Amino acid sequence: MKRIGVLTSGGDAPGMNAAVRAVVRKAIYHNIEVYGIYQGYQGLMNGSIKKLELGSVGDIVQRGGTMLFSARCLEFKTKEGQLQGIEQLKKHGIDGLVVIGGDGSYMGAKALTEHGFPCIGVPGTIDNDIPGTEFTIGFDTALNTVIDAIDKIRDTATSHERTYVVEVMGRNAGDIALWAGLAGGAESILIPEADYDINDIVQKLQRGHERGKKHSIIIVAEGVGSGVEIGKQIEEMTNLDTRVTVLGHVQRGGSPTAVDRVLASRLGAYAVELLLEGKGGRAVGIEKNQLVDYDIIEALARKHQINMDMYKLSQELSI
Ligand code: ADP
Repeated sequence: MKRIGVLTSGGDAPGMNAAVRAVVRKAIYHNIEVYGIYQGYQGLMNGSIKKLELGSVGDIVQRGGTMLFSARCLEFKTKEGQLQGIEQLKKHGIDGLVVIGGDGSYMGAKALTEHGFPCIGVPGTIDNDIPGTEFTIGFDTALNTVIDAIDKIRDTATSHERTYVVEVMGRNAGDIALWAGLAGGAESILIPEADYDINDIVQKLQRGHERGKKHSIIIVAEGVGSGVEIGKQIEEMTNLDTRVTVLGHVQRGGSPTAVDRVLASRLGAYAVELLLEGKGGRAVGIEKNQLVDYDIIEALARKHQINMDMYKLSQELSI
């Protein structure tokens, strides 16, 4: 392998830049040329491809977002779109590709691999919902953003003796809600992986109120439903002053935490190592602090599992 490409795709995540930097520097360290593909699969199809040097990735390890930009590209879901992408890669003499993104982006990498072009998937998403890794790049930063918000909301909730519903990201995975809820001492955590009974939540709030509790915080993952609706329901049922905060896209931004920068550096460099060994069609990840890689097709066939022991613990600690 003489020349590799790197792209970021799908929803951006803090730490993607650190991963791009690692791919570029690790490859150049091994005398491999690196080409940056801009705007994800859209840029791949259009030939938006430029050579990256050591200095191209200077001063980005600490920045959120992605210097390669990201895009969603429906056309890439078609065989024609994928073959057009491969044509561009061949035109630029690129022999292998690192794709940094979420499960949708992995599908693209899987398709390219099936057409015979070696790709490595690097998990970059705040949702922590990629099978084959315990943590995804961006999750820790998003979590810390949510915790920062919860701590601030808690101050005003206490001052006004209010109940707050905080809606966080996570359409199919409740990891952000669960970890933030546990770390933020939330009264209830609503995640897509577990059913909830609004009566239990209301009873818990009322018990807390009678005990003299000054505030309560309920975390709702967006996949469960609208935080606003749940807030209304709770206010009607408890008569407690209830407010709702939908955190939205602030969760995607910000300077990556040290944990995310280190994870991104390790995973990005590992992706290059695999390509150097002539391996393609792999998804890299971290398990028990060890770098791991799986067949990308097998990885995608599995389902990310939330830690239900942690969910149970969160319930035990918030009686
Ligand atoms: P994420 O990677 O964050 O999950 P998306 O689901 O939007 O984000 O996927 C990002 C991009 O990956 C899509 O816009 C599309 O170009 C590509 N992609 C998604 N699904 C497929 C698929 N089944 N086959 C090929 N490419 C896909």
